[in-house]
Amino acid sequence: MKLCRFNKNRLGLVQDEQVFDVTEALDALPALSYPYPLEDQLVANLAAVRSRVDGLKSTAASLPLASVSLLSPVANPGKIIAAPVNYVKHLQEVLNDRNLHHDNQINHIEKAGLFLKARSSLVGASDGVTLGLSGRRTDHEIELVIVIGKAGKDIAVSEALSHVAGYSIGLDITIRGAEERSFRKSLDSYTVLGPWLTTADEIADPGTLDLELKINGGTRQKTNTSDLIIGVEALIVFASKFYTLQPGDLIFTGTPEGVSPIEAGDSLDAWIDQLGRMKVDIHPAAEQAQ
Ligand code: MN
Repeated sequence: MKLCRFNKNRLGLVQDEQVFDVTEALDALPALSYPYPLEDQLVANLAAVRSRVDGLKSTAASLPLASVSLLSPVANPGKIIAAPVNYVKHLQEVLNDRNLHHDNQINHIEKAGLFLKARSSLVGASDGVTLGLSGRRTDHEIELVIVIGKAGKDIAVSEALSHVAGYSIGLDITIRGAEERSFRKSLDSYTVLGPWLTTADEIADPGTLDLELKINGGTRQKTNTSDLIIGVEALIVFASKFYTLQPGDLIFTGTPEGVSPIEAGDSLDAWIDQLGRMKVDIHPAAEQAQ
């Protein structure tokens, strides 16, 4: 099942270039009181929501996919976890370019560990990216994103995929420089998730997905998730050694080689096999916008 959040917080079922409005399925979510749990409620209650979606689909109004605005399919992730250099060729690329690395930031991922991006940086495909600082090199990074579906700590590799709700395409937008990763990758709109959530039952093997990112029609990044240094299952194991994973937590799995600067006016086209395609526009820094 492919579930999107669209327009003004509508819930959509995506099928054949159509979006079926199944917002009523959100009635399956529990009434909560303060303090709210640190998990995304749609993902935490995904089985109940899916059951309602199945019942609503035959009578749901549909809209052309191209006519809707796509928001982040996960609205309230408790954590946005991300892997630093996790493709062999990207590691080589970074080591070969002084513009891309500073001092001791580049280690093998097992030494470097994972990092967190601010939840406030999260947007959907139609929001686009608004450049936050002028005069600083800002790069695109396309990544497979794991959406955690079931809580767990110290998860065994054999159990890892049972903790996955689904997958999306992510863009980990990055200012190059010497600051901590969490600082220069967490500007508003620097984490793009979309175009929707593809539930895990549709993806037999997340370790064999082709992915490609184009800017203004030209290919910049193109690889297959089989080239990940630490693959999907092992990343879940690694993250859960340090963090209790909660439904709705996102794990950005790392970007392949081919990172390059983005500029205001660029249009990014991000595609991952079986997960869809999303167009993401790059907007000028707010103070420069006319
Ligand atoms: Mn990244």
